[in-house]
Amino acid sequence: MTPRFFTDAIMTDQPATGAHPTMPTTVDLAAVEAARERIKSLCVVTPARRSVDLSAEIGTDVWLKLESMQPSRAFKLRGAANAILSLADPQETGVITQSSGNHGRAVAYVAAQLGIPAVICLSRRTPNEKVEAVRRLGAEVIVDGEDQMAASAVADRIAEERGMVFIPPFDHPDVIAGQGTIGLELIEQCPGLSTIVVPLSGGGLASGVAMAAKSVRPDLRVIGVSQDHGAAMHDSIESGHVVEVEERPSWADALVGGLPTDNTWTLAMCQEWLDAVVLVSEDEIADAMVYAFNTEHLVLEGGAAVGISYLLSDPAEKWGSGVAVICTGDNIATSRLLELVAERRARM
Ligand SMILES: *Cc1c(COP(=O)(O)O)cnc(C)c1O
Repeated sequence: MTPRFFTDAIMTDQPATGAHPTMPTTVDLAAVEAARERIKSLCVVTPARRSVDLSAEIGTDVWLKLESMQPSRAFKLRGAANAILSLADPQETGVITQSSGNHGRAVAYVAAQLGIPAVICLSRRTPNEKVEAVRRLGAEVIVDGEDQMAASAVADRIAEERGMVFIPPFDHPDVIAGQGTIGLELIEQCPGLSTIVVPLSGGGLASGVAMAAKSVRPDLRVIGVSQDHGAAMHDSIESGHVVEVEERPSWADALVGGLPTDNTWTLAMCQEWLDAVVLVSEDEIADAMVYAFNTEHLVLEGGAAVGISYLLSDPAEKWGSGVAVICTGDNIATSRLLELVAERRARM
């Protein structure tokens, strides 16, 4: 049987925990502390830069956690590094995933650094520059399948054929623990921290950060932010189970996508650990990208700017003594960002 991570447990109708020898039974603070040690050689302790302008805007200290400064240019490196470094024999098996976005890049980067064979499966719809970007990271790229679902089926088949380990983008304890390392860094970096604002899609980031940070500091508030249409985790938390959402284009393309119905970890953890999930509009996301560029001189993709969107859209919220905003990545074509900046300038 393919040494796939968690799906084996689901498929065989066994409880998810314990069905696989390497499958942890919980994700706790100790797992995040171990991840922190494990990923040191591959990941950067990113700066939490105090924003003078945002602090003035909302009347309390605001720090921007610059995950776009990871070598793969998004926080997904942390989870991918922790998952791959936790494997028993990755050189032997190799790793595989399906993503044209930050997760695919992270897996490709880690594998290249460790000299591990990696396959990244992309759909035929993936823009050429994205295919090339993954290829440049040194991974074998397989372009097959009409859409993400089909590319995912291709990845499953190749994993089975070659005995490669599939690295999931969010719903895995080692991935969640890796992302959680951000929470521990923030507590040390931001004096007087009271609130953490986290972009939210599949919830690996939010689960890890909220659990880790609140295990150390139970008084902290952690707020997830998603785009206001097709917000799968938001809708699933409201319904108490995984709900299907309609996928529509968004500035926050990294946040678009449903939750697979076999979700094992992140929905339960987001339900348990998040204080609130808020939604921001396309206009607010675009505004925040432009604000980050003009005011902070930061390039942020839409998914990375939703935290700033929320601060700017609700400056009167009770923010407490200090707010950390996770700026998750910078995977946007500069031409698109510059067009947006020019368009907003023309409107003024
Ligand atoms: C993946 C991603 C997110 C969301 O992370 P989840 O763990 O899926 O919630 C946010 N921002 C960027 C840039 C991402 O790539």
